[in-house]
Amino acid sequence: MKPEELLQQLQQAADFLKLTLAHPDFLPFASYQLENGTDIQIWDTGVIYCQPKQSGQQDIVLSSGVHGNETAPVELCSELLNDVLAGKLLLTERVLFLFGNPPAMNAGVREIQDNLNRLFSGHHSKEPGVQSAERERAKKLETYVLKFFEDAPQGLRERKLYDLHTAIRGSRFEKFVVYPFLHGKNWSKNQFEFLKACGANTVLLMQTPASTFSYFAAQSCNAHGFTIELGKARPFGQNDMSRFADAAAAFRALISGGELATTEFNEADFNLYEVRRSIDKTTEAFTLHFADNIENFTTFGVGTLLASDEGVEYKVEVEGEAIIFPNPKVAIGQRAMLMVKPVSVTGKVS
Ligand SMILES: [Zn+2]
Repeated sequence: MKPEELLQQLQQAADFLKLTLAHPDFLPFASYQLENGTDIQIWDTGVIYCQPKQSGQQDIVLSSGVHGNETAPVELCSELLNDVLAGKLLLTERVLFLFGNPPAMNAGVREIQDNLNRLFSGHHSKEPGVQSAERERAKKLETYVLKFFEDAPQGLRERKLYDLHTAIRGSRFEKFVVYPFLHGKNWSKNQFEFLKACGANTVLLMQTPASTFSYFAAQSCNAHGFTIELGKARPFGQNDMSRFADAAAAFRALISGGELATTEFNEADFNLYEVRRSIDKTTEAFTLHFADNIENFTTFGVGTLLASDEGVEYKVEVEGEAIIFPNPKVAIGQRAMLMVKPVSVTGKVS
């Protein structure tokens, strides 16, 4: 497709997601300006940069579809973006919209070959090298995000990356956030307040580096980065978007200078957890000993058998230990489940 053709189609339909899904592997660079002065630049399929005439002091990446079957966040971001493209939503901040894995979105699957959210911070190039579409995509997404932040105007600015997901299983707390490891830096009070305005007051505080997009943003871009789980994964068109209304309103306000429905940070308003241990799948014998419908953050009595692998049994070790992200279908060597426990952030937020 030629850039002129692409722009014509985008201007006619004002629907970038549709164009992305029709061209899941590549779109050429193209740019134009909206009547309200906003610059629009297509950088690639699923990658579109919006720069308002007068930009505020934030550089915001809104990412969705890193897992192809997690459609609610894609629909949420597409709606915001289409309003921008149609001139109905006037941005006050620079925004980079990313639809992470278009081929997987078309196929209605989490990934085609590799889990895209395990390939950041250079993991795309580790053994066996950049030899899958997801590995290539992770490498490119890193480049785009770095470019977006580096091209920002001079001055004191806030960098943010919100990577929106939905979980495989239900959760005791419908919306929750993974806050990547900050290497000892304080957690951000303002960001806790924003997350709560999104309807997500359950936060898992990580204590180790990761290969996720949000850790890459925090560690390599010095941004506030988050993985936000908005609910349960459902196919396109089957999401009850009213369940995402708070998050949609909060992101809309964030990028357009609107009033945010935040309240002052108070730890009592949150469910805070940290990781106690990570359980990896080491052989094909790996089995979970609880039902598929058991929700994230469920707790069991001490001693309950949760999972087994060849020659190992994993049991609840302490009171309050809860399960999260159990997935026996991961590749051998990958994380099959996290065990978390409640934690306080007193003295560690600012
Ligand atoms: Zn996901």
